[in-house]
Amino acid sequence: MLDQFLKEIVVITVGKQAEPIADLLNNKKHVNEFVLAKKLDLTINQTRNILYKLSDFGIISSIRKKDKKKGWYTYYWRFEVMKCLLFLKDLLVKRLEELDKEMSDRHKKVFYACESCGLEYTEEESLLKDFTCDECGQIFSSKDDSKHIKELAKTKEKIQEKLAQVEIELSKEYVFAEKRKGKEIKKEIKEKEQKRVDAAAKRKATRDKKTSSSPKKLVNKKVENKKKETKKPTKTSSKKMSVSKKSSLKKSSKKILKKK
Ligand SMILES: [Zn+2]
Repeated sequence: MLDQFLKEIVVITVGKQAEPIADLLNNKKHVNEFVLAKKLDLTINQTRNILYKLSDFGIISSIRKKDKKKGWYTYYWRFEVMKCLLFLKDLLVKRLEELDKEMSDRHKKVFYACESCGLEYTEEESLLKDFTCDECGQIFSSKDDSKHIKELAKTKEKIQEKLAQVEIELSKEYVFAEKRKGKEIKKEIKEKEQKRVDAAAKRKATRDKKTSSSPKKLVNKKVENKKKETKKPTKTSSKKMSVSKKSSLKKSSKKILKKK
């Protein structure tokens, strides 16, 4: 079903002649533009013209890779399936709206026609023309629209069915996108964890170096850290601290006095 939709989208956006590219443009992996040209039996410029038109609609995406030997860039393309489906959905919804409008117009208004010229007029237009054809002078007959309305209803039903299928493909694509996102997030977490482990190993290595060269300093630092931690109290305790500090100061000053 999806393949059929992708073909249809290519025909709508570029034209019937571009249809074969739909089967060649993979929707998971980017495809080399030269490979596409060769398979389509087109020149690289003709192929690029098609690709650029599709790209203007945002329904395909590209990556470029540098040719190490020749030094130039080659582009690789693939469908953006979600965007393709949303594009098609938009078209179908618009078509449905147009059909609804046409159907309600047909229901509301009586149409008149000149049978021999095949011209059709609304009631107001017919009044202005005195129900007589400008072209041949024949008198209008009122038009039976039931056939036409039935046709419109059938068309509407078909479009609704198609829209439902597009929705199914869209939901599949959402699941696929979520899975892909999940994989990317997992990969990111793994990479972050690896970085953390590497950084920790580095820190440990430099720490080990320091310990072996000057172990006393490290011990002092640890003690200092502990002191700092206890110096981080709440307001009330800091008051207590300052009180105890004062008292200790007094004590120490007394000691000094005693010593004197
Ligand atoms: Zn006529």
